[in-house]
Order: sequence, then structure tokens, then C-alpha cells
Amino acid sequence: MSKRKIIKIDEEKCNGCSLCIPNCPEGALQIIDGKVRLVSDLFCDGLGACIGHCPEGAITTEEREAEEYDEEKVMVNIVKQGKNVIKAHLEHLKGHKQDAYLKQAIGFLKEKNIEMQIEDKHTHGFSGCPSSQVMDFREKDKISSKKITAFGVES
Ligand code: SF4
Repeated sequence: MSKRKIIKIDEEKCNGCSLCIPNCPEGALQIIDGKVRLVSDLFCDGLGACIGHCPEGAITTEEREAEEYDEEKVMVNIVKQGKNVIKAHLEHLKGHKQDAYLKQAIGFLKEKNIEMQIEDKHTHGFSGCPSSQVMDFREKDKISSKKITAFGVES
């Protein structure tokens, strides 16, 4: 355990609408007893893909002692949800410049012989993640013609 960024749910504000759940392809959220819950620290990368999808403003991030995010365990969940979810997850990591996790995810897919291709863009397939909306367009221009495959980045 170490201190890191992770989501925080305000139970007073959460009405259990579940709008945030599809926006956490990592599988960290579930509705339990009418409220959304973070089911495991392991599945929350702390990047806040879910935050902008909560109409009640019930999700924020905080720094606290938490188990390390585990990309391998997340990928086991992600792969079960099909190619669109895999793609959304890879774009999410790429959009947040989480190169180490992206490398792990790509390695996992390679191991499982799952071939994926995602456009290297800075917005998300699932209508955007607020914390990734600050873009470096120079960087985007430079790399927008590249594609990420399960076997690496190609031009
Ligand atoms: S979107 Fe917001 S209000 Fe709805 S379940 Fe998620 S945290 Fe609760």
C-alpha cells in the first residue's frame, strides 16, 4: 500500500443512477444498496474517467493510502467485455499518457493473442474524460498518424 490518487464517492450526493458505471471500463464501480461503490482499489487507476459522467458531482479524486492499481487484473476484466471496451481502455491510458500501464495492457493482449488497433487520439471513445481534455496539439499533430496495436506502435 502506498499513497496515491484514487476516486472518492460522496454517498450523500450519489443517487445510484449508475451513469458512471459504463464509464469505468476498468470495472472498479458497482451499485450496491442503491449507491455506487468502489469495489476494489486495484481496479481504480485514479484518472477519473467516471467523474464527468456523474450528474450529481458525487465523484472526485483524493490522495490516500490504497492498494496499487493492477493493470493485469484490470485487463482480465476488460477483455471479457469485448473489443470496444478494450479499445476504450487503451485510449484512456494513452490519453492520460500512462505509458507504463499501456505497455502492460499491450503485453497482456499480446500474451493472449488478441490483436487490437486503436487510433492514437487524445479524446476517448466513450464521450471523453474531463481530465484528459487538456491537449498538447503539437504532440497530437506529431503522432496522430500512428496506430497502437497489441504488438506496438506503428506509423
Ligand atoms: S453517476 Fe453519480 S449519482 Fe449516478 S451512480 Fe454514479 S456516482 Fe452515483
